[in-house]
Amino acid sequence: MNRCKGKIALVTGAGRGIGAGIAKEFAEQGAFVFVSDLDESTAKSTAAEIISSGGAALGFGLDVTSGDDWARVTDLVAKEKGRLDILVNNAGIETIATIADITYEQWRRTQDINVDGVFRGIKSCLDLLKVSGADTPSGASIINLSSIAGLVGVTDQVAYNTSKGAVRIMTKAMAIEFAAHGYNIRVNSIHPGVIGTAMMDEVYETWQKNNTVGTQNMDEVKEIVVNMHPLKRIGSPKDIAMGAVYLGSDESGFVTGAELVIDGGWVAQ
Ligand code: NAP
Repeated sequence: MNRCKGKIALVTGAGRGIGAGIAKEFAEQGAFVFVSDLDESTAKSTAAEIISSGGAALGFGLDVTSGDDWARVTDLVAKEKGRLDILVNNAGIETIATIADITYEQWRRTQDINVDGVFRGIKSCLDLLKVSGADTPSGASIINLSSIAGLVGVTDQVAYNTSKGAVRIMTKAMAIEFAAHGYNIRVNSIHPGVIGTAMMDEVYETWQKNNTVGTQNMDEVKEIVVNMHPLKRIGSPKDIAMGAVYLGSDESGFVTGAELVIDGGWVAQ
């Protein structure tokens, strides 16, 4: 408890899945959370859950690909709190298609949300994060959701793989730039393995349909995926949220440009 006490956080794509898990854990640890999602109703539901558990949150719609949306949201954060301590660029989509099959529109949409969305988030929130950086010894914290797919290749995921690799190196570029300019804003990436969310349900269905892992029996597909992780289970949003709490809290004041891999050992093999 209280590991993020007094901090002001903004989480994108927090209507469900990993983003919702991070938003709830931040609130549990004492932060005020701006909860955003493409779907305003799910963002408001996550915020309502936080408030009913005794936490503090505000839910609203934010399409991370829209410059107008980001301007509206940063105005709101400036008006309400005047600073931002933690920005979590979590919103993302998966795209499963081979290089032969993927359309240019699918490729662009994946980069637009997964890469440009992170770029827009950092650029839009910079002034608010600088206020926090100037005011706190451990600095402001940006946490970008990459993936194990930002570290190693995965079959039939050229667009997603490329986007998550870009998020990994954008994180390091920003970490170095902000340190060099003395902003006291730390920037780190999280690299989840398979986490049980709606995104993964869609992946399972596609792998089943395409016979990607050598079977079209759904129970077997899921068992094969579990066995890809040395710890022999998939992860939960809470597994990722606890990593985000560390990176968002003062405990990680000397950590910037790092990749926090939370994957049950997948990429250690
Ligand atoms: P999810 O269950 O699909 O949730 C993603 C959320 O992002 C949804 O609420 C979605 O809103 C929202 N979103 C989509 N496009 C958006 C946009 N343009 N602007 C704002 N919000 C948008 O996915 P997840 O599994 O929680 O994944 C969260 C992050 O972790 C992603 O970046 C993903 O790539 C990464 N990740 C996930 C896994 C995994 O196994 N699950 C593994 C590695 C990395 P709608 O519901 O309205 O579409």
